Amino acid sequence: MRIRIVTLLLLLLASLSVATAQTKIPAPADVLGFTPGEDRKLASWSQVVEYFQRLDQASDRVTFQTLGQTTMGQPFVMATISSPANLARLEDFKKIQDQLADPRKLGPLATRDRKAAELIRQGKTIVLITCGIHSTEVGSYLSSMLIAHRLASSTEPAIQKILDNTIILLVPSLNPDGVDIVKNWYDKTLGTPFEGTDPPELYHKYTGHDNNRDWYSFTQVETQLTVDKIHNVWHPQIVHDIHQQGAFGSRLFLPPYMAPVEPNVPKAIVQGYTELGNWMAAQMRTQGFQGITTDSTYDAWTPARAYSHYHGGVRVLSETASARIASPITLKFEELRSREGYDPQKESPQFRPLWRGGEWKLSDITKYMTTAAFLLLDHAATNRAQWLQRFYAIGKEAVRPRRPGELYGFLIEASNESAATLISILERGGVEVTTPKAGPKLKIGGLEFPDTARLVRMDQPYGAFAKALLEVQHYPNLRDATGHPIAPYDVTAHTLPLLMGVKVRPVKAPFRYSPERFQLTEKVIDLGAGLQQNLPALYHSAVPSQDEGWTRWILDSKKIPYGVLGDKELRAGITVYKPSAGVTVKYYTILVPDQPARTLLEGYRAGSMPPELTGGLGPQGVKGLRDFVETGGTLIFLNRASNFAIEQFKLPLRNVVAGLPRSDFYVPGSILRIKLDTTHPLANGMQEVTIAWAEDSPVFEVTNDPNASVPASNVHVIASYPADKDPLLSGWLLGGDLIKGKAALVEVTMGKGRLILFGFRPQYRAQSLATYPLFFNALASK
Ligand SMILES: [Zn+2]
Repeated sequence: MRIRIVTLLLLLLASLSVATAQTKIPAPADVLGFTPGEDRKLASWSQVVEYFQRLDQASDRVTFQTLGQTTMGQPFVMATISSPANLARLEDFKKIQDQLADPRKLGPLATRDRKAAELIRQGKTIVLITCGIHSTEVGSYLSSMLIAHRLASSTEPAIQKILDNTIILLVPSLNPDGVDIVKNWYDKTLGTPFEGTDPPELYHKYTGHDNNRDWYSFTQVETQLTVDKIHNVWHPQIVHDIHQQGAFGSRLFLPPYMAPVEPNVPKAIVQGYTELGNWMAAQMRTQGFQGITTDSTYDAWTPARAYSHYHGGVRVLSETASARIASPITLKFEELRSREGYDPQKESPQFRPLWRGGEWKLSDITKYMTTAAFLLLDHAATNRAQWLQRFYAIGKEAVRPRRPGELYGFLIEASNESAATLISILERGGVEVTTPKAGPKLKIGGLEFPDTARLVRMDQPYGAFAKALLEVQHYPNLRDATGHPIAPYDVTAHTLPLLMGVKVRPVKAPFRYSPERFQLTEKVIDLGAGLQQNLPALYHSAVPSQDEGWTRWILDSKKIPYGVLGDKELRAGITVYKPSAGVTVKYYTILVPDQPARTLLEGYRAGSMPPELTGGLGPQGVKGLRDFVETGGTLIFLNRASNFAIEQFKLPLRNVVAGLPRSDFYVPGSILRIKLDTTHPLANGMQEVTIAWAEDSPVFEVTNDPNASVPASNVHVIASYPADKDPLLSGWLLGGDLIKGKAALVEVTMGKGRLILFGFRPQYRAQSLATYPLFFNALASK
């Protein structure tokens, strides 16, 4: 009797404690003072962190941890959300994931499937939800708190099913620094004519929007933390990457992605995101959501945006239409504009049902986002066994021994610093790189390794990731119904050996060499050696430039000092450094990063931003730059900025591809072949043949224009596209014949100084190590 009473009392206490625990779960408004989605309200990063800390304390379904520090020193964080029983066994689930990802760990081949079946029975679907990599897309980091709150507090059976069957890794922002950059600007301009504008600085210190192009070169600390401490630890089967797109297209994009899919993405991944994306879209349409598109705009061509596609997990990108940061907008139906693959004014298999226009606000955005996220979680929970089965099947195919005639692997000539960088990238991506032991030379298939070679085999879990990075890309020549080239979503090449100047040879099973096709830089010179005494200056446009950000990152990471000059300084005029003259501004060189010529000249339009930010360089800035050159300075222009130099300084040069329609000439981010004049000091440390990263790039021809400011004889061509060979090495190029024999890098002397015009990006996204010597030699010029 007594025992029964005690038991009853305990049960009563237990149920009471559950009830109190649930009433104590803080809502986002308890910390923020508003509910995420309210108009004109943004949370700071410290508020987001505080909210998740409070959830962690209050809920046994949430654990919260700091994984490291961001570029600007903020905490980089993740919440792990699941049932209390699952959270108590996280290490067990990691072990299950580890073995299913790499079936070699399951022991002898004959018993692997049986062991895997048991692990699949026990395992959970691992879902990684990433928010806020693009900080002006504010809906997702705000939604992260709504998603976490519902998961932590709800008693709905549907939520219980999700908690029991999945482990959710929730990253409230992949770019915490940007949360405050955007909030500070938004709050500052709230109620002014500039409310809802994008901040006039990159929302990631170095990379801006390009922070989502770093998933195969891993340069940034936020990418490294996500890969090292989340992906490689948990191997999620599903990654839900929540973004926003422009205001005028569909209300929501969901996968499948439009063509092309990069050929190394496993078929099972394509099936997975197609099934999941189509199901989510169908469910949302049933619930009355409008303006949903699939199979449009966003392709699956590159590992730069999709780490998980090469690591056993589907990436479900969602792109919800934007408002003006947190301020509502009103759109007319007629204002909606077509994007690649659909017209938002017409129903089609890729777009339906119509959204008729009207008000569009932050709460619409968070509603689309949270609805999509919970549908995704529902699918992950309901189909738990299928997701794990698919994941195992991908791992099993990856580690299968290669048959005769199949690609066996790649040999990497590991003889320079760039090769070390390439190998460290592969290893960070989970790729095993075999190092021959000292002593007798390693022999495979009767062939000896050179001492410096490293081997990457294909029969390993992430062999496809290595293959995607090491081989040449042949981007398909895609045309729409009218024969017009279909624009890729981003660039078309990612061949790291070409970009980095590392010799890599594919080897087939049975293992043998294939002949070397292409000579590249053997040795990277001592980059920046001359720069310690020669402080270069970087032009900083009021309109943020990602190329400028990457340039700062390269210089900062190499600890090379530099100055920064804005429109104001250049309009006032800059004096070339002369040690004896005792002047305060001491630059020999000014570098103008890649930006459209018009943006450089005009900047923000008058009235579009506060007056101190508008006007660009203007005629006064052009004069300041001209005076700098004529008195002995060096001006360096990168890629599109070279058009500015040609126009504003009336150089005897013509951009032969200017204004050509895409069908005649198109190079949307590809690796081309150039030949250098190796006698020129700028080519110091380079071999004759190298690469050029071309992307909306000018191509130069020397003219005899009598109105030019200097004669044609002042132009020295340092690099040109070969006259007798296809310039394309990797990616997509239309109209290659037009640029054969034309110049890609020139020097023009003017007064006592000179201009260096790059018709490509020599330090592209900190990846094109092959052409770093050209870049640094230019910076070190006097
Ligand atoms: Zn985005």
